[in-house]
Parts: sequence; structure tokens; C-alpha cells
Amino acid sequence: MAQLLLKENPICNCQGVLFDKDGTLSHSEPHLLELAEARIKKAIEIAQEKTPALQAPALGDTLRRAFGVHNGMLDPGGTLAVASRQDNIASTATVLCLLGCSWPQALALAHACFDAVDQDNLIDTTPSPLLNGAGQLMRDLYQQGVTAAVISNDTRSGIEDFLAHHELKACVASIWSADDHPRKPDPQAVLELCERLDLPPQRCALVGDAETDLQMALEAGIGGVIGFTGGWSRPPELPSAQYLLHSWEDLALNTAA
Ligand SMILES: [Mg+2]
Repeated sequence: MAQLLLKENPICNCQGVLFDKDGTLSHSEPHLLELAEARIKKAIEIAQEKTPALQAPALGDTLRRAFGVHNGMLDPGGTLAVASRQDNIASTATVLCLLGCSWPQALALAHACFDAVDQDNLIDTTPSPLLNGAGQLMRDLYQQGVTAAVISNDTRSGIEDFLAHHELKACVASIWSADDHPRKPDPQAVLELCERLDLPPQRCALVGDAETDLQMALEAGIGGVIGFTGGWSRPPELPSAQYLLHSWEDLALNTAA
């Protein structure tokens, strides 16, 4: 059992910490903005080829809003920042429906667009950098025998590549990805991850940058629900946070507790 200290004040005693990845451990905003623009460009290309009646400027603007891109910044509570690839495909298909496609046609176009961006290697797939201090905290947890896990809506391979790239694989006992069922933000995802870790939820803390992460943690009975606001140009609003963390350097471990 270790005590988490926020700016030197004790906030909770825990045996495990569950981390979100994008916008919490990972500085994901530049990569996600690039991904959004590549998908929008590809959607316009494909739509113009398959459904010439569709208005390209309206498609670009509406997709940007659907993904949560505004003035070159990403909405930390928007679809691209928070939701899985599958949900982003559904969101893209919904936009295509609003502009006149049938649902089967919209879904086929959305899948074709996402697959083409992946297959054409249009964006750099190097894992995003760690946010300052996140790696050190994970190494400290590992050295002090506190279990760490990652719960994210990225794919299992995306999470594993990110951890391997930053030499943190050994520090993480388990991951719960978009390939696991149910996906985040179902509280059952947290309960099953805790079961895998053999830890009661009330002995764990969860750190996330999305309101849905924090609501999920509260419903699952997590002992310390920590909102992280330092991962985006525009800080997320996190009314469900029991504690707010702006920088990883403000969080430390007191193992004497
Ligand atoms: Mg996140």
C-alpha cells in the first residue's frame, strides 16, 4: 500500500493505479490533429468519387466539428480525443447521413476512408511523446511495488507499442484496450481490469483526462478519482474529479504510509 501525494498533500492510499493513455500519459494532440485532417481529406476524396452530389466544404466543416477540431486545437471531450476508432467511424457515417447518404452507404464510405488512411501510411505512426513526468511516476510506482495498468480506447497493439517505445512495458501489469469487452467507459471494464490485477477497486486510483473516464471510475467504486488537465492545449472540464492534477510532477508516492 502506498500513499499518493498531490502537491505533498495525501489524497489516497492505494495498491494500484489505472491510467488512461491519450491526453493523460501521452501527448496525443499533435498526432490526433494530423489524423483528423488526413481522415477529412480522404473522406472528401472518396465522397466526391462515390457521391458527387455531396458538398465537400460542408463535409469538411461538419467532420471537423464531429471530431472536435476547432481553431487548430482538439476538444479534449470530443469524439477523436475520447472515443474508439469504431465510434469515430460511426460518427463519420452520421455526418455523411446528415449530408444525404443512406446509412449503409455512409458506413461503407466511413470504413473505406479510415482504412485508406491506415493503408496509405498517410500519417506518422511513431508513438506520441510522454507527457512530462509521467514516465518517472510509472517507474517510481514499479520500484515501490504499486501495480500500474493502462485502460484506454486505443487498440491493444497501439497501447503496447506506446509502452514499448517509452520503455515502460515492464512497469505495467495489465492493459484494457478497445479490443477488450466491454470497452471504456463501461464501469464493468474497470471492474474486470481490477479482477485481472487481483485488486479491489477501492484500493485503486484512476487517472484520466475525460469526464467519461472519471464517471466510470466513480461507478466502479475506485478509491481515488483523479482528473488530469495538463494533456491538451484546451484543458478538459472534469466536474467528476475528486482531485485535479495539472502536471505529473505534482504527484508523488509516500511509501512509508
Ligand atoms: Mg484520454
